[in-house]
Amino acid sequence: MTMQLREPIAVDAGAQGEAYQLIPVLSVAEAEADRQMHICNACRYCEGFCAVFPAMTRRLEFAKADIHYLANLCHNCGACLHACQYAAPHEFAVNVPQAMAKVRVDTYVDYAWPAALGTLYRRNGLTMALASAAGLALFLLLTLLVSGTLLPGRLAGDFYAIFPHNTLALMFGAAFGFAVLALGIGVRRFWQGITPAETEAVATGAATLEATGAVLKLKYLDGGHGQGCNNESDRFTLWRRRFHHLTFYGFMLCFAATSVATLYHYLLGVAAPYPVLSLPVLLGIAGGIGLIVGPAGLLVLNHRRDPAHGDVAQRPMDRGFIALLLAISLTGFALLIGRDSGAMAILLAVHLGVVMAFFLTMPYGKFAHGIFRSAALLKYAIEKRQPDRLKLGSE
Ligand code: SF4
Ligand code: SF4
Repeated sequence: MTMQLREPIAVDAGAQGEAYQLIPVLSVAEAEADRQMHICNACRYCEGFCAVFPAMTRRLEFAKADIHYLANLCHNCGACLHACQYAAPHEFAVNVPQAMAKVRVDTYVDYAWPAALGTLYRRNGLTMALASAAGLALFLLLTLLVSGTLLPGRLAGDFYAIFPHNTLALMFGAAFGFAVLALGIGVRRFWQGITPAETEAVATGAATLEATGAVLKLKYLDGGHGQGCNNESDRFTLWRRRFHHLTFYGFMLCFAATSVATLYHYLLGVAAPYPVLSLPVLLGIAGGIGLIVGPAGLLVLNHRRDPAHGDVAQRPMDRGFIALLLAISLTGFALLIGRDSGAMAILLAVHLGVVMAFFLTMPYGKFAHGIFRSAALLKYAIEKRQPDRLKLGSE
């Protein structure tokens, strides 16, 4: 982290020279967020909109850690931009969602693990997502072609006749395990970064419950008034929140389907293929529907979005992530429908290629926003239960 010398701090009467305090230098994006937070802190019109503004009012200065924290608290709902009397063409040109979005991506890069891979966040876009999926699917198809199992005839949905169970478990377990490890270390670094040593951040049961509720309900996508976000205009819409919910819960149901299937395999000794009315398949179907409707809706909203909202440079990353989720569910349904046909091996290879591309790009793409935002919401829930040092100082 780059450091610079700040003004001299208190010096002993007998000291020969001045002591200096080292503080991290703000990047251009952080300095802009800092400028806007000072204006907002004087205005405070948007205090009730979301968690960003109450968290802001607990501070008079915004260090790098504060800006990283506030940036990840912002859900980019657009409400404060549409309400702002100091937005462009006013000379103050306040645009909080945009300033926060630009800092947010820097936090993903700065706290990434391994650090060298952090730059992938800036390259992770639609082309990279689709190219990775196509490349991996092609690799699996060629493997099948070479081994003579590309068109094996009807196998009644027996996937393991194509790719042995242990091979799949090893390949996907390793990719998923790495993604969880990388994201886990990244968010731990972020937490340590936004929680300097002198501040206390111990999560109580109530704080954890509140943060979990805010994450699961996507509380701050309601615009602060319950009517939703601004997407392409001044009109409020709850569709962004609904499509996020469908995507999130669809993903969780698909994850549950895989977990239940793993339990069936290892605990009950019941191997796939499972009947359509079995628990893993029903969970997969419900999750898959969510993962089609949610990402498709988000893609439409993303295309219609007012460019003043957020950072347009990050749209390829958003779209790449959404496209991969959509491709997972579409290829999953194609596999379910065609699992008894002679094309099953091809459909399986394409689906596995897309899932593998998702796992490999997961730690360095849009998936991170949910993890970092959850950590910021937990900090907010802890912080709001602590005495406000500014109010204590004025009493
Ligand atoms: S976004 Fe604009 S209206 Fe809202 S607090 Fe900041 S300066 Fe005030
Ligand atoms: S865009 Fe929405 S979430 Fe972000 S600071 Fe403004 S009101 Fe809060």
